[in-house]
Amino acid sequence: MRIIDSHTHLGVSRLSESVYTEAMQLDAQRQWGIDVSIVLPIPKDPGGPAAAHDRIHRLCNDHRGRFFGVLDLDPAMADAAYWQEAQRCVKELGFIGVKLHTYFHPCNPLSPFTDKVFEMAQHFDIPVIVHTGLISTFGLPSLQVQRAKEFPRVKIVLAHMGYNAYTAEAIVAAQLCDNIFLESSWTGPGRVKEAIKKLGSARVMMGADQLINIPWELAKIRNIGLNDAQLEDCMGRTAAAVFKLPL
Ligand SMILES: [Zn+2]
Repeated sequence: MRIIDSHTHLGVSRLSESVYTEAMQLDAQRQWGIDVSIVLPIPKDPGGPAAAHDRIHRLCNDHRGRFFGVLDLDPAMADAAYWQEAQRCVKELGFIGVKLHTYFHPCNPLSPFTDKVFEMAQHFDIPVIVHTGLISTFGLPSLQVQRAKEFPRVKIVLAHMGYNAYTAEAIVAAQLCDNIFLESSWTGPGRVKEAIKKLGSARVMMGADQLINIPWELAKIRNIGLNDAQLEDCMGRTAAAVFKLPL
């Protein structure tokens, strides 16, 4: 069974003091049997977003097929600059998704400033990962229903599936929109099981977010009574399909 961590980070954060290095990522893959990691920058990386993207690209290049990059830019940027860096990430660096961080880049996901995130994702045919749940009032899962309806061809991954507190809402959003998918980090086992029961395992993917979370995120998925096919979906097949990973 292929195991994909659909949500991890590389870099240094000026906000949370988190530090994730290449060596830490490789150690985590080895220690926990992760086959593939989808790597996001940390917003407010001191070197700026382009350098953070380049660093992720080097990791992906040095370990082909083991790491895939996601871009993350502040939607408050001028549209032209946003599009330019996004195009570089997708076309030159081969990135496979875009993050909309409703907390570290505080933004109303329904504001005109965030139109470009979804327009760009539609243009390049890549999924949008949206921070949902706690620590951001703009992270309410229901706000993505409108975006999912406006951009029916764009796959939207609700990171943290509402962070446990708003998981019921994340499930409703996904029930209303076939192009909404849920990622499991920070959400309790009962809620994850409920999501799989109501949506099917092809709509739910494992993510750890922080490296220290990996063992319990894996244990969570493995111990909620899934059958083999459901387990395979949540552990990797759903993420591989949503992000169209060339594995
Ligand atoms: Zn994260």
